[in-house]
Amino acid sequence: MSAAAVHSRAVTFRDELDALDLPGLAEHARTATATDVDAALARSDGHRDLTDAAALLSDAASNRLEDLAQAAHELTVRRFGRTVHLFAPLYVSNECLSTCTYCGFAKNLEIRRRTLLLPEVQREAGLLTQQGFRHLLLVSGEHIKAVSPAYLASCIDLLQGEVPSISIETQVWDADDYALLAEAGCDGVVIYQETYDHDTYRAVHVAGMKRHEDFRLAGPERAADAGVRRLGIGALLGLHHDWRAEALATLAHARYLIRRFWRTEVTVSFPRMRPSASGFQPANPVGDRDFAQLTCAARLAVPDVGIVLSTREEPALRDGLLGLGVTHASAGSHTEPGGYAEPEQAQEQFAISDHRSPAAFAAMLRARGYDPVWKDWSAALSLAELERL
Ligand code: SF4
Repeated sequence: MSAAAVHSRAVTFRDELDALDLPGLAEHARTATATDVDAALARSDGHRDLTDAAALLSDAASNRLEDLAQAAHELTVRRFGRTVHLFAPLYVSNECLSTCTYCGFAKNLEIRRRTLLLPEVQREAGLLTQQGFRHLLLVSGEHIKAVSPAYLASCIDLLQGEVPSISIETQVWDADDYALLAEAGCDGVVIYQETYDHDTYRAVHVAGMKRHEDFRLAGPERAADAGVRRLGIGALLGLHHDWRAEALATLAHARYLIRRFWRTEVTVSFPRMRPSASGFQPANPVGDRDFAQLTCAARLAVPDVGIVLSTREEPALRDGLLGLGVTHASAGSHTEPGGYAEPEQAQEQFAISDHRSPAAFAAMLRARGYDPVWKDWSAALSLAELERL
C-alpha cells in the first residue's frame, strides 16, 4: 500500500482500540481515589475523557453513588427531557450457524427452530403496533440462507407502511448488504460486540461467522457508511471478568462513532447475562449496584448517547434506573420467533425478567413524570429529505 493510500484510509475503531491503553484505564478504574472522582464529577458535561470515565466506574465512585445518580439524572433531563423511547424486539428466526457458548440459539443446541414467513412477520408486527409500538427491532440468529439480506429487506419493505422505524439485530453484513438494507428502509443497526477482550472473544465464539471478531467490530462503521441512521453497540456483561474494562471499551467505541458519524444517533447497552438453553453461567456476574453505577458513569461520560435498557432486568431495577440515564427501553418482549402470536412455540433466546405489558410499563412511566415516546422518527423528516426540499 502506498503512503498516500495509508494516509487517506479512515482511522477505524480497530485502530483506536489498538492504540488505547485499555489496561491502564481499567487499572485506574480499580485504583482511582476520591479526589479523582471529585475531579471527574466537577468536569463540565461534554468534557469528561475516558480517564474521568474510569474514575466514575471505580470503587471510590461506588461510595459516591448518590452524587453520581444526581449528576446523571440532571444531565439526562437536560439533554433528553423526561422521555423514554419505547421499542419492541421482533424475533424473526432462531436458526443459527454460529456457536456462541452463552446463547440459547447456538448451532448445536437441540431446540425448536423457526424462521417466520412474511405473513407471520406481518402478524407479529400487527400485534405490536396494536399495543402502540412504532419502532421495531428485527432480531435473528446468524443463518445466511434462512435470514439473508434479501429476506430482511422483504420484511422491512412489508412493514414500512405501519412501522416508521425499523432496526435490525442480526448477522453482521458487508457494505453492499448494508446499502441494500438501508435502501429498503432499515434505519437502525444494532451490533453488540459482546466482549472487547480478544481472548474472551475467541473463547466464547467457538465457530461460525461470529468468530470473525474484526469483521464484527467494524460492522457499525460499514452500516453508517451505507446510510444507516441509528447505531446500537454494547457489551454482554458477564462474559469477561472485568466489567469495568468492557464498559470503558464500549464508551470508547461510542465516542469514536459519534465523532466519525456525527449525523448518526448512537445508543449503548450493557445487557447482563440471563439464563438460556446454553446453560452458560457467568463467572463474574455484575451486581445491581455496579450496574446502576455503570449506567450513571456512561451517562456522564457520553452525554449525547442513548442508553438502552431491556426486559432482561427486573421491574424494580428498571424503574430505578430510568432516572439515571436510560433513554430507550423495550417492554412486553418475547425473545422467541412468533412469540407475540404464539408464545413458546419456539425456543426463546434468553429469559426475560420484566413481564409487564407495554401499557403497564407506559403507565408506570407517566406516573413517574416521564413521557413514553412510541414514535420519534419519520423518513420524511430525515436530513437528506429536508436537504432535498
Ligand atoms: S449470539 Fe447470535 S450468533 Fe451466537 S449463537 Fe446466539 S444467535 Fe447465534
